[in-house]
Amino acid sequence: MRRIIVVAALLAALAFASAGSALSSDNTVYITRTGSCYHTAECSHLRSSAMPLALTDAVERGYRPCKLCKPPAPDAPVKTATAPAETVKVAVIRVVDGDTIKVRYEGKLESVRLIGIDTPEITRGKNEPFGKQAEAFLAALLANRTALLEFDLERRDRYGRLLAYVWAQGGGEPSPIFVNAQLARWGLAQLLTIPPNVKYVERLQSAVGAAQATRLNLWRDIQ
Ligand SMILES: [Zn+2]
Repeated sequence: MRRIIVVAALLAALAFASAGSALSSDNTVYITRTGSCYHTAECSHLRSSAMPLALTDAVERGYRPCKLCKPPAPDAPVKTATAPAETVKVAVIRVVDGDTIKVRYEGKLESVRLIGIDTPEITRGKNEPFGKQAEAFLAALLANRTALLEFDLERRDRYGRLLAYVWAQGGGEPSPIFVNAQLARWGLAQLLTIPPNVKYVERLQSAVGAAQATRLNLWRDIQ
């Protein structure tokens, strides 16, 4: 299990690296694994680790500009993302695919479908392109972090699965990561809106749009 997580983390790091290079250099900044600031590519604070990130994402996730390298500030203030008040902490037992996890919830083993998005199928004999990458990316986001579930209007689908937005908290990040949106942002998920669960449709739509604009992963051949 530990080895699987290490491999998943490596794959996700690669995804971060290749995705980052596709972003234009003027709006890309860099964060470290443990710091709370974002940096320019040249900053000496990046000696041990560096992950590229869009400037707006860095600000939205609560990172502040480094005082040493003075990276660009966002054009307009971006509101800081915090996990909503109504979330439930769960233990993640297994990542099934890019949009499904098994968790322990209220003492029972439950399937959770991440809503608002759809990732390529890799179960029941299917192996769609970028499905394994989406699974590895999701596993890496959840590794060494606490998973919080946020529900929309419907708590379960017709198969009895929980329907949720997943937030990943901890791991040195100043604010929780909105996992569903990150999958969309890195071009590993399409938008899938099923009313009445539409709470974050605009945010997920803009994440997909950002991935399409830079032709990340699923959108690499988009015209
Ligand atoms: Zn710096």
